[in-house]
Amino acid sequence: SKKPYRWQRVLLKVSGEALAGDHTENIDPKITMAIAREVASVTKLGVEVAIVVGGGNIFRGASWAGCSGLDRSSADYIGMLATVMNAIFLQATMESIGIPTRVQTAFRMSEVAEPYIRRRAVRHLEKGRVVIFAAGTGNPFFTTDTAAALRCAEINAEVVLKATNVDGVYDADPRQNPNAHLLETVSYHDVTMRDLSVMDMTAITLCQENNIPVVVFNLKKPGNIAKAIVGDKVGTFIGC
Ligand code: UDP
Repeated sequence: SKKPYRWQRVLLKVSGEALAGDHTENIDPKITMAIAREVASVTKLGVEVAIVVGGGNIFRGASWAGCSGLDRSSADYIGMLATVMNAIFLQATMESIGIPTRVQTAFRMSEVAEPYIRRRAVRHLEKGRVVIFAAGTGNPFFTTDTAAALRCAEINAEVVLKATNVDGVYDADPRQNPNAHLLETVSYHDVTMRDLSVMDMTAITLCQENNIPVVVFNLKKPGNIAKAIVGDKVGTFIGC
């Protein structure tokens, strides 16, 4: 029997920046706990949740590659390893409040986490476990937003829920323009043509080509994650 929620299976993207919060360290445990609590509240309702974590709070390949003489691929591998740290932190937090959670990495680190195996990930979700995908796509020159779009398509999740530090997508930069409006819905076309800096182009076109809607919302507002996961109106809806 179908559950009465809009989404049955979602892909939640949590950026590294969002995990950092206002904490002086790289990760704010209050934020990871808030995420864990809200995810717990919806998995109890039967919604299946997979998570892709970013790593920007610890290391961003592209910004290091330019200034340090480090080649881009090496820098990106360090960035991917950073996402694994965030994933383990989030897993430990979720398990501390009783949510069964598995981490799967895009490249093997089998002492630390399972390797990514699509069918196994789906099986975990069906059993009510939260699956955290770490190490991005496993390839340099990509982002964890692209990993979110890719994993969403692979596991047949219905939507990418992008948890950020802003309320959603604006028609102008709200930090520069006080008249900027929050958009309720926006098309893929507008995101790319108007350069609305929601996700990188690779990620947004992958969503568009596979008809995956994206919801961009503020993770700092209590209740937003749970709302987004069950499909209540929150932030900006990108689709069509
Ligand atoms: N990264 C990568 N390939 C991927 C995903 C991530 O090389 O498929 C690297 C890249 O260097 C990136 C870093 O990992 O800067 C952290 O990921 P991202 O910047 O997407 O994290 P977020 O912005 O979500 O915190």
